[in-house]
Amino acid sequence: MDYTATPDLLKERIILVTGAGDGIGRAAAKSFAAHGATVILLGRTIRKLEFVYDEIIQANHPKPAIYPMNLEGASPKDYEDLAEIIYKEFGRLDGLLHNASMLGKLTPLEHYDINQWYQVLQVNLNAPYMLTRACLGLLKQSSDASIVFTSSNVGRKGRAYWGAYAVSKFAQEGLMQVLADELEQNTSIRVNSLNPGKTRTKMRSDAYPGENPNTLPAPDEIMNIYLYLMGADSRSVHGQALDAQPMV
Ligand code: NAP
Repeated sequence: MDYTATPDLLKERIILVTGAGDGIGRAAAKSFAAHGATVILLGRTIRKLEFVYDEIIQANHPKPAIYPMNLEGASPKDYEDLAEIIYKEFGRLDGLLHNASMLGKLTPLEHYDINQWYQVLQVNLNAPYMLTRACLGLLKQSSDASIVFTSSNVGRKGRAYWGAYAVSKFAQEGLMQVLADELEQNTSIRVNSLNPGKTRTKMRSDAYPGENPNTLPAPDEIMNIYLYLMGADSRSVHGQALDAQPMV
């Protein structure tokens, strides 16, 4: 994307990133912090979150917060508690990046493991819904809040063997559209979905073990559009399905 973020684009913004301990979420958290945001690092592996926390502190960026949470087992009450803590600590939320997700096993629908079906939809669809629902009050406290759902090529066009993962990404697109329509009139919250495209992460290598990762961009290289969507320059962008890289 042809966009250059100003160094203080996200100054004084409070942004929650799910799956902030690894891959694209880690790069996004660091990039948001580097542009002035206070980032809430949510994820399930504390050691990874602490590592990202240390990287942000060592770079002299605003002190982040760590919120360990396993999206697979989290209840509606857990999301309400999180929102309550954010309210007490910060009073509002300016950005919410739904980045965490699980791939599940790539297999024909006929043989898809039912428990894994539930598990993938819980992490990739129900969790972002419950988190969004709990955070709407906080987002309304911001003068210009941004919610970003993370999609995928297989969330825009179905592909054999991608099972619950593909279905969950299609559903996130639907969730984004319904929410965008509901929030259009009376709020200053914008809602969009973003497909990062092929990116050099663990999830990508799990899905394509035979691929040479060096042929893919690193998460750091696709951060422009993430910054754009979290900053005020994207104020008028609402209800759109966007791509970080050209779709192939
Ligand atoms: P990744 O490196 O595997 O990172 C996924 C993150 O989600 C990790 O931090 C992981 O935590 C977290 N996570 C998974 N299950 C969780 C749970 N139950 N509770 C809390 N956190 C959980 O994957 P990635 O490639 O960066 O993917 C980021 C997003 O981009 C995903 O939504 C993915 O679908 C999307 N995407 C990626 C690509 C690509 O080519 N990489 C392409 C299209 C879309 P742990 O590290 O603790 O496991």
